[in-house]
Amino acid sequence: MNILVTNDDGINSEGLKTLADTLKEIGDVYVVAPDRQRSAVGLSVTLEHPLRIRNVGEKTYSVDGMPADCVTLAVHNILDSSPDLLVSGINDGQNLGYDIYHSGTVGAAILGTMFGIPSMAVSIANKQFDDTYEDVFWYGSAAQIALKIARNVLKYKLPIGTYLNVNVPNVPLPEIEGIEISRHGSVTYDIEIQHRLDPRGRKYYWVGGEFRRESEHSETDLDILRQRKVSVTPLRLDLTDYSVIDELSHWIND
Ligand SMILES: [Mg+2]
Repeated sequence: MNILVTNDDGINSEGLKTLADTLKEIGDVYVVAPDRQRSAVGLSVTLEHPLRIRNVGEKTYSVDGMPADCVTLAVHNILDSSPDLLVSGINDGQNLGYDIYHSGTVGAAILGTMFGIPSMAVSIANKQFDDTYEDVFWYGSAAQIALKIARNVLKYKLPIGTYLNVNVPNVPLPEIEGIEISRHGSVTYDIEIQHRLDPRGRKYYWVGGEFRRESEHSETDLDILRQRKVSVTPLRLDLTDYSVIDELSHWIND
């Protein structure tokens, strides 16, 4: 059993290391991850400059590219054959709602799914989500959850084109209230752009935002996570809106 582990927080991320060590229980783990922080790059790929792979440990490689580059190079260059499973994470911070469109953690799982590999993204919530969380990250707990779900993905299989987005509350394992299937909500951010001047008097901008915390429906990823449960959202590569096809076909040629 070959398992590919990657992330978007970079090769030195504690979440990545904990995940890789934990998954060794069920297979040969290959780590191929960006050489630096690459959060929020989504499914970006590097086309305009060469990529370098560095072997930085046993079955461990860093790439000076994006998470999706890591998956491509792992599958088509580093590993001898396609892995049986891809696990991306453990991301430092939740990936909820529309985060899935920005997330490099999820992006790696999307590309894995495109390559036909059963794939899952795993994230642990941070204090931005719940300010009562402790200052430490309980990566070991999240890794145990990832291990349990990975085992079941291998045992029961996912449909072709489906991948999982897993979000784990940042609490010790005994305090996790269960694992529940969710749908992704529409969680987004109140965008805040700060303007400042650099030392040469030129303007620069820093894009950020406050996590919007309103509740939507009890079955969304946000609400499941808020209940201190693990949220597992099944996602599909196919983004077609089938509900509108009939109506659209009536007026698109009008
Ligand atoms: Mg990240």
